[in-house]
Amino acid sequence: MVLVRWPRLVGVTWPERTWPALGALAATVEFPDLLARVGNAAAAFFRRFLLGAQACWWFVCCFLTGPLIRCRPEDRRFLWRVFLAGIFKRRKWRKLAAAPTPAVWLGHLERHVPFCAALVGEEREEFLGKLKGFIGTKPFFGAGGLEIDDEIRVVVAASAVRLIRKLDLSYYDRLKEIVVYPYDFVNPRSEYGVHLGEAHSFGTVVLSWPAVLRGLRDEHDGHETALHEFAHVLDLGDGGFDGTPVLRARADYAAWGQVMGAHFERLQSGDAESLRVLRAYGATDPAEFFAVATEAFFEKGELMRERAPDLYKVLREFYGFDPC
Ligand SMILES: [Zn+2]
Repeated sequence: MVLVRWPRLVGVTWPERTWPALGALAATVEFPDLLARVGNAAAAFFRRFLLGAQACWWFVCCFLTGPLIRCRPEDRRFLWRVFLAGIFKRRKWRKLAAAPTPAVWLGHLERHVPFCAALVGEEREEFLGKLKGFIGTKPFFGAGGLEIDDEIRVVVAASAVRLIRKLDLSYYDRLKEIVVYPYDFVNPRSEYGVHLGEAHSFGTVVLSWPAVLRGLRDEHDGHETALHEFAHVLDLGDGGFDGTPVLRARADYAAWGQVMGAHFERLQSGDAESLRVLRAYGATDPAEFFAVATEAFFEKGELMRERAPDLYKVLREFYGFDPC
C-alpha cells in the first residue's frame, strides 16, 4: 500500500519543535474513524496542555526559582536567549519589512530574478518585506575566496522567499547560515563529486553562485538549485529530512502522504509521464522527491497541473498560491 511508504503520515505540531519527546508523543495520538472526533479533540487538548505546561515551566525556571535552580550561568543565559528570541523576532521582522527597499536591490532582482517581474502591488510589497526580513536575519558567508555582496544576498534570498510567499518567515527558523562558493564545489566527504548546493541538518545551506544564476536564468526547466536547497530547509522544519514539511493543518497529512507516496513510487519505477514533469533525481529518496517536486511546481507548474493534478494540488495547498 502506497500510504505506508511515505515516512511521515501523522502530523507533528509545533510543541514538538521545542519539546521533542512529549511533542512527538502527542503527535502520534490518533484514533480510528469511529472515535476520530472525540479522540482528535482529546489529542488537541493534550497538545494544548503540553504547551501550557511548557510555558509554566519556562516561567518558573526563568522568573521565580531561577537563582535556586542548579544551573550554570551560561545555560541560564541560553534559556533567556531562547525565551526572549521568540518574543522579539517578530518585532524585528516587522521593523525590517517596514524599512525602504534599497533601489540597488531592485536592480539586482530585475537583472537576475525573472519571476519578480510578475509580482505587483500588495504581492510585491509582501515579497519585498519578507526579503528584507530574510536578509536582515540570516548571515551569509563567502567560501573559496568569494566576497559576499548585496547582489548575492538579494538573489539568493529571493529564491528562499519565493517558497514562503504565503507562509511565515519562521519556516526558516532552522536555517542558521548560507555559505556561497564562486564555483560548483566538491565536498570531499560526499560520493557525488561536484555539488551545486547542499542543505545540512545543522542549519547550513551551501550554494554555488554560478549554479544559483543558472537555475534562475531558465525559468521553465524544473531545475533551480537555490529553490531546491531551501525546500530541504522547509522539509527540516519538523526535525528531519523526510519529504514532509510542517503542513498547514493536521488534516493535510493524510492526503500529502498518499499523493507524494504514489508519485514517488511512479518516479522510482521510471514512469515516462512522471519523468516529463519531475527530474529523475527525485527518485533518490522522499526528501529529494519533495525538493524536486517543489522545483517542478514553481518552474513547470502548468505541466504539473495538467499531468499530475493531485501532486499540484497538495503542493498548492502547502505553498498557498498558484505559481503559474
Ligand atoms: Zn537535494
